[in-house]
Amino acid sequence: MSGLVKPLPALYVVYVLRSTVRPGSIYIGSTPNPPRRLKQHNGEAKGGAVRTSRDTLRPWEMIVLVSGFPSSTAALKFEWALNNPHLTLHIPKEERITVATQRKRNGMPRRKPHSLKSVIPNVHLLTSVSSFSRWPLNVHFFSQDAHKVWKDWSETRETAVATSPTILTDFGPSAGDASTTPWGIHALALDYSPMKEYIEKAHNVTSFERQGQCIHCSKEMQPEQGLYAMCPNDGCEAMGHIDCWSKHALAGDEPGAIIPTSCKCPACSGEIRWGDMMKELSLRTRGTKEVEKLLRKKKRAKKDS
Ligand SMILES: [Zn+2]
Ligand SMILES: [Zn+2]
Repeated sequence: MSGLVKPLPALYVVYVLRSTVRPGSIYIGSTPNPPRRLKQHNGEAKGGAVRTSRDTLRPWEMIVLVSGFPSSTAALKFEWALNNPHLTLHIPKEERITVATQRKRNGMPRRKPHSLKSVIPNVHLLTSVSSFSRWPLNVHFFSQDAHKVWKDWSETRETAVATSPTILTDFGPSAGDASTTPWGIHALALDYSPMKEYIEKAHNVTSFERQGQCIHCSKEMQPEQGLYAMCPNDGCEAMGHIDCWSKHALAGDEPGAIIPTSCKCPACSGEIRWGDMMKELSLRTRGTKEVEKLLRKKKRAKKDS
């Protein structure tokens, strides 16, 4: 039940953890708060996984993150599949990279230990299979060698461009750069602040009941009588019935698709990621508290670049 009333999470990631002491030791987990979770793995905060508690492997670093999951359950599914690439039904048998070579005592197939060369290709594979490719996923690289494995692997694969995840890299300040600007997992927004302007414009339109007519069917949208989604693009206030948006988006999608991935806004012609629009809508309809908190925060002065 709580799954129905909670808004979509601000951030929830699946991460690849690597020992800085023994780079062959790799661990996969998930969290809404990567900096806090890393502290736990490194023994600087309470609560961490037993497997990462050995002093000989600490400190750990997070080298790859996958974000953009529509729910924490979705992230947990992905985490499980990435931890069990030899078992998951999300990967068709003939496409598996990791296969079981042995069996455990209980008869379950055992996989080889994770390595960069198995985990990265499996992230690539999982973000492209139909169960996960429809989500607006991002893959963040904080280590150059992990990114290189990804690039080398990608070159050997035919990729369906339409469903590729967004790739983000941040390798930190270069040697000799004394800047103290946060980078990597410390530069991630853990709240809804990256969506603030979008949330604010939709909030203003609906609280002043300025919905007007549906951008698709031109019918009047009565306040509080339906789910009205708004275009996320800067300066565009195109709003419409969720069903109308969905029909519009699916018309341009592959046949048989049930959940849209993206569409073009009929008002501003900008590209819309379906997941972004649903995140705002879920927050507006189920996250009153979160919205109030976000809009109460003083606008930070924008830094001149
Ligand atoms: Zn409509
Ligand atoms: Zn628009």
